[in-house]
Amino acid sequence: MKPSHIEHLGIAVNSLEEAIPFFEKVLELECYAVEEVADQKVKTAFFKVGQTKIELLESTDSEGTIAKFIEKKGQGVHHVAFAVEGLEKELEFVAGQGVKLIDKTPRKGAEGLNIAFLHPKSTCGILMELCENPNK
Ligand code: ZN
Repeated sequence: MKPSHIEHLGIAVNSLEEAIPFFEKVLELECYAVEEVADQKVKTAFFKVGQTKIELLESTDSEGTIAKFIEKKGQGVHHVAFAVEGLEKELEFVAGQGVKLIDKTPRKGAEGLNIAFLHPKSTCGILMELCENPNK
């Protein structure tokens, strides 16, 4: 698959309002965007660390996947997103390698990226997201 870099780390938090100041004051990173992704029942906040972003995820719904994740495991790293080119082809490729897909076809994620998730049962327990920038 040869991803070019880690696009972002998705981190589940109880509250953006509580989490953002830690990243701003302690890590001295600038929160450059806050965006709600209704489809995923989350509110996101973004920071840049070099080429990689930190995506904080707060659930907007107690039945959402982030709410359920925090209920089970607490706050923390939720997923790792790899930047790829040709997302549809890459999904075919990984499926051909026996990897279980959560998203069989790409969908829209935050920041206008096309994204798809792979099932953690197939990826050493890591929830993996593949991202493609359609404007590149
Ligand atoms: Zn993500």
